[in-house]
Amino acid sequence: MKKDAENRRRDREPAVARRVTRRVFYGTVGVGGDSPVSIQSMSTFPAAAVEEAGAEIRALSQAGCEIVRVAVRDDQDVMALERICSASPIPVIADIHFDHRLAVSAAGRGVAGLRINPGNIGGEKKVMEVVEAAARAGITLRVGVNAGSLEKELRSLYEKDQPRALCESANRQLGIIERSGFRDLVFSLKSSSAAVTVEANRLFAAGNDYPLHLGVTEAGPPLSGTARSVVALTQLLGAGIGDTIRVSLSGDPVREIIVAAAVLSSLGLRDDFPRVISCPTCGRCHLEVAGMAEKLERILPGRAGKMTVAVMGCEVNGPGEAREADIGIAGAKQGAVIFRNGRIVKKIEKDFFENLISEIDKFSLEEDPE
Ligand code: SF4
Repeated sequence: MKKDAENRRRDREPAVARRVTRRVFYGTVGVGGDSPVSIQSMSTFPAAAVEEAGAEIRALSQAGCEIVRVAVRDDQDVMALERICSASPIPVIADIHFDHRLAVSAAGRGVAGLRINPGNIGGEKKVMEVVEAAARAGITLRVGVNAGSLEKELRSLYEKDQPRALCESANRQLGIIERSGFRDLVFSLKSSSAAVTVEANRLFAAGNDYPLHLGVTEAGPPLSGTARSVVALTQLLGAGIGDTIRVSLSGDPVREIIVAAAVLSSLGLRDDFPRVISCPTCGRCHLEVAGMAEKLERILPGRAGKMTVAVMGCEVNGPGEAREADIGIAGAKQGAVIFRNGRIVKKIEKDFFENLISEIDKFSLEEDPE
């Protein structure tokens, strides 16, 4: 049965040869080296909103997020980090701007990493205090260069050559930090322009072997932001550059995870996420396809491994696609039909989503596709 299911699964795109990078860790999650490209997001709540941030982090983890960043704005946020980290199912990175002392205090409070921005943390001495704190705590430091907050000295270069200015900022920090012997570093070079992000990362990646966190900053509202992110990520990941990614979108961060997982799967860089296919619907549709497919994308990574689920609206293309998937549902005049491994297992007239989930859970338990 397992082999049949495997054969029915669509062929994945070929894997991309990745740039050779050194490996660092956020907790148990490796970034760089031969670790798979990981998915990150950021809570929309500050650390001090422990309950809200905690619930959001659980939802992100359930959708497939592997590393999460939390904003640390003041001492209250620093004090909340231990509770956030101990309740989080995934490693937490403290995101700090402006005040390096917050980064120093955050380092020993359960976080798996720190993220600072050299453009606003306040010069070499302060950066080095953060580096020493990260080294003492045995955690990873991300140096995140952003076009919107470059060091003053680089602004005239930025006017002339944006990618080179971003790369120069990251290289300066690298030079300063490397003198200390600290190597648990991840770099990111972000702009709201996909083209600038791509070129800046290409330039930086050519000169060293530190892992890169990729993303287009301030990418935008969900649809246009997704397009901008996918354009940049596809070019860089397709060239083997990038070790961890964030798709920045306004609104619910769970959407970021769904897009990131689809990008990595489509490029053949990850094949361990469940895949949902669904029809665009038309006047023949008998089912609430869009709602079911969206719900599945949010909850499947938390309850199923590598599998394909098809949600199809009617008897035209429905049975064909549903048969090809591991589990599929196809609308019919009298309700819907559920397929498993190409065979009909249920005809139902109501509770479509609940029945589909119950078949998915049975499939995961009984066939263990991994
Ligand atoms: S499967 Fe049916 S409902 Fe869905 S788009 Fe095709 S014809 Fe329309």
